[in-house]
Amino acid sequence: MQKLDPYLNIDPGTMSPYQHGEVFVTEDGAETDLDLGHYERFTGLEMSRKSNYTSGRIYWEVLEKERRGDYLGTTVQMIPHITDEIKAKIRQLDDDGVDVVICEIGGTVGDIEGLTFLEAIRQIGLEEGRENVMYIHLTYVPYIKAAGEVKTKPTQQSVAKLREIGILPDALICRTEVDLSDDVRKKLSLFCNVPHHAVMVEQDVNHTIYEVPVVLSEQGLDDLILVHFRLARPSAHLEAWQAMVNNVIQPEGSVRIGVIGKYAELQDAYKSIFEAIHHGGVAHRHRVEIVKIPAEEIEDGKGLDRLTNVSGLLVPGGFGNRGVEGKIRAIQSAREEGTPFLGICLGLQCAVIEFARHAVGLDGAHSTEIDSSTPHPVVCLMEEQEDLADMGGTMHLGAHTCFIKPGTCAYEAYGTERIRERHRHRYEVNLKYLPRMEEKGLLVSGRSEDGKLVKIIELKDHPWFVATQFHPEFKSQPLNPHPLFKAFVGHAIEKQAVPS
Ligand code: GLN
Repeated sequence: MQKLDPYLNIDPGTMSPYQHGEVFVTEDGAETDLDLGHYERFTGLEMSRKSNYTSGRIYWEVLEKERRGDYLGTTVQMIPHITDEIKAKIRQLDDDGVDVVICEIGGTVGDIEGLTFLEAIRQIGLEEGRENVMYIHLTYVPYIKAAGEVKTKPTQQSVAKLREIGILPDALICRTEVDLSDDVRKKLSLFCNVPHHAVMVEQDVNHTIYEVPVVLSEQGLDDLILVHFRLARPSAHLEAWQAMVNNVIQPEGSVRIGVIGKYAELQDAYKSIFEAIHHGGVAHRHRVEIVKIPAEEIEDGKGLDRLTNVSGLLVPGGFGNRGVEGKIRAIQSAREEGTPFLGICLGLQCAVIEFARHAVGLDGAHSTEIDSSTPHPVVCLMEEQEDLADMGGTMHLGAHTCFIKPGTCAYEAYGTERIRERHRHRYEVNLKYLPRMEEKGLLVSGRSEDGKLVKIIELKDHPWFVATQFHPEFKSQPLNPHPLFKAFVGHAIEKQAVPS
């Protein structure tokens, strides 16, 4: 699977969550569009650096070739040089032995910057033969509430635009708030030149996004694709998936979990975290109500009551100083009240700062990311990061091995001593301060292979307080909930049953 994004950033790694939502990280350390997270969660497959290209990255590579002289004096142009590069990126997946490439083009038909991508997939249709390429157009069919009707015009227009480019969609998937009548489907079929049975309705689902594959399969989208490619048509095995969906729709109980983030109001900024929490709930047949608490609102001890009506607290990753004191305050409350706590990346760093300040008595302890002149730099820049000037793609990224200490909460969750998890950070726990913290009950339960990097911490005198320097949320899947999220939600459910 591949996502082709028309914007000019080389990757979304340097983009603000306000612009782009979460940055997803692949096993091989690429910072990518958050859609790759959906791909992994829906298919169970592992994406890689080859699964996400932006215009920026394509142009960059073409311009590098131009500077090297690879084009031997020719005029370098959008067509064929940029389009050839795009096609090469799609076809390179052939080297991995794949049979089918599912390639999503981001943006909207009609965007100037998306044109080269559309032109490239048009050319692929010509080169591979139309019977070997299927074009599926995902289109929004708006519902005008005041008039009580849906509008097919935007779809007619975007399909007309595609036809101008030379792409005739083989199927339409219509995103819509309401069901589309057969008349509307017929109209779309006629005006868009798509067979009636290939007009799929993707209405908003009631409970969980994981219902969508079932909805599309019921309409025969899977069959339509197999027929197009003249492939065998076994019926889809959606039993396990359907069971998971039923589990979400009819839970046995519910539990509230608070997430204290800088961007609490943004649905997409913590996409994988929210999904992983829900997976943790599925594992216990519980619905999780996620209470989003903006970190700034609990700074200076204000708004602390918001922390008491949840049964678990999670502090996610982040950058920069906004909201950090609120996160630290929330962690102090979780530590003192015995509330199940999961800290991730900056969440671990804040937990270490909180512990240093309040349990060890190191006044002013901080991370040098936030306070470069702190008297107690308990979190500091990783050695490998010290001389870096470039910000793009230079963090400590991707999957690295972690060794877990038996007899810890982490070990109980994973059930194994050796794990691999994905990272995205520049700062780390300062080993110099560890002995003093360990003396007061901080436990390092996960370390890097060489023992030099702190990867998981816990608290000895706490029911369940675990924080990780890596991002477990990226590896959680609905059919395979991440062990730490499963354990975290499980302890929150227990806490709810026996309130302190
Ligand atoms: N800002 C911190 C660092 O760079 C944490 C990063 C994160 O939470 N992903 O180390």
